[in-house]
Amino acid sequence: METVAGTTAVIVAIDGPSGTGKSSTSKAVAAQLGLRYLDTGAQYRAITWWMVHHGVDVTDPAAVAAVADKPEIVSGTDPAAPTITVDGTDVSAPIRTPEVTAKVSAVSAVPEVRTRITELQRSIAASAAGGIVVEGRDIGTTVLPDADLKIFLTASPEARAARRSGELKGADVKATQEALVKRDAADSSRKTSPLAKAADAVEVDTTDLTLQQVIECVVTLVQDRRGPQVLVDGERAGR
Ligand code: C5P
Repeated sequence: METVAGTTAVIVAIDGPSGTGKSSTSKAVAAQLGLRYLDTGAQYRAITWWMVHHGVDVTDPAAVAAVADKPEIVSGTDPAAPTITVDGTDVSAPIRTPEVTAKVSAVSAVPEVRTRITELQRSIAASAAGGIVVEGRDIGTTVLPDADLKIFLTASPEARAARRSGELKGADVKATQEALVKRDAADSSRKTSPLAKAADAVEVDTTDLTLQQVIECVVTLVQDRRGPQVLVDGERAGR
């Protein structure tokens, strides 16, 4: 992919289950390297929020499929302040409610939803001059199989639950772990583009690493893959 300045854009795919530090890592890596950032989980949450808001029965795949092309989802890709709107409404807070979290796996398993959101993701990545970090579950396998670098983050279920409960400010760790394991099982077993590690992805087990260590590890992997070009791009962008 060529940028306006004639330098090559870098595309980084970061996949893995919930609670592995994907979002924090992806945002920090993008900011550090002067790249754009896309949270694809937020897009699936946004379409789920729209379904709930419009009274669609999310347990009925045909009902979800019938309206999958209705909501207009727009993602802002600045890693310092990512945004997400549906039909012009800022949904960054409501997409994080327990109700949306509990329903998102059912909605994201519907093939018509995946086709729609995958197209959106590809067009955002293609128009990200300078490059982008895209995080999700199927980025390296399905959405951007030609990504320059694919990372698959993992962590023990205990570590993932502890991190998520911390984020949710004191939520019960055991209940959080059960919900996480259930959502990962649904995401990994669905027919259409399940959560999976691409054959050429680098796996990073974050269980015993600090967030800073994971960020450094991924930044080094991007720089190794690209050579000094990434630093030059970051400096040119003034970041
Ligand atoms: O990353 P996050 O936990 O916000 O993702 C929410 C949900 O969105 C996941 O549990 C999964 O069902 C769905 N998702 C997906 N494919 C992606 C990203 C997220 O199916 N690339």
